[in-house]
Amino acid sequence: MKYYCQKCHLIYDQDICLQCGEKLKEAHLDDDCFLIEKKQLWADADMLKELLEEHHVPYYCASSMGAGMSLKIGPMLETYQFYVPYSHYDEALSCVKTLFGADEIEY
Ligand SMILES: [Zn+2]
Repeated sequence: MKYYCQKCHLIYDQDICLQCGEKLKEAHLDDDCFLIEKKQLWADADMLKELLEEHHVPYYCASSMGAGMSLKIGPMLETYQFYVPYSHYDEALSCVKTLFGADEIEY
């Protein structure tokens, strides 16, 4: 059984969140799971999007900076966070490993 933190969007094998200390509930198929954060590289984020689409994995991609910030600093310094539903989490994770290798996955 897997557990899910609604605050941090992380999946755990245990029922306590390591990020916020919250007591966790069982993961549901429609929970939005944090997949990976890609820093700076547009190309990487685009490659991941393409691969997820190829595998029919629904996802959403959040940017850590507002539009105003990226205008000033430039899009290269933005951070992208990918989220996928728990139902597709394992598949999405294997896409990430295919693309970036296992050591890219950090929590
Ligand atoms: Zn948490």
